[in-house]
Amino acid sequence: MSLHRIKRPWEIKRDYNIPGQGRDVVTDFYQSKTWQKLRNMFIASVSTHLPGLGRHHNKFCWICALSGILRLTHTIDHIKPINRDNPFDTRNGQFGEPLTWENLGPLCKVHAMRKNAIERNYKNLTLEQIIEKLRIKEY
Ligand SMILES: [Zn+2]
Repeated sequence: MSLHRIKRPWEIKRDYNIPGQGRDVVTDFYQSKTWQKLRNMFIASVSTHLPGLGRHHNKFCWICALSGILRLTHTIDHIKPINRDNPFDTRNGQFGEPLTWENLGPLCKVHAMRKNAIERNYKNLTLEQIIEKLRIKEY
């Protein structure tokens, strides 16, 4: 066996055929012109579909706004998560629509990270339960 140098993280190949490792697919989606345009339009607009809020400017996190706090948006989140293996295949509504305005929500960095963790760790929560978990901790 020959000595070979240690692989750097970006040299480690992922097997994209294994479900859950299809990160390249979502990366392509998030880098697409269509998403970028929608995202930029969304963050500059007012929403009326966010539960618990009336008119809400998307440049502010909507979870923070539920507590009366104005904190700048970091991530445009899919309220109902998209299919990470194929964003355009909702599997009959099992996953959220990738380009539908009503499925988008503006989140600050902390709430975006927290929502990702909740979605990874808890399956089958209702949106109300997710919102409750997002708001439960002091921030
Ligand atoms: Zn927030």
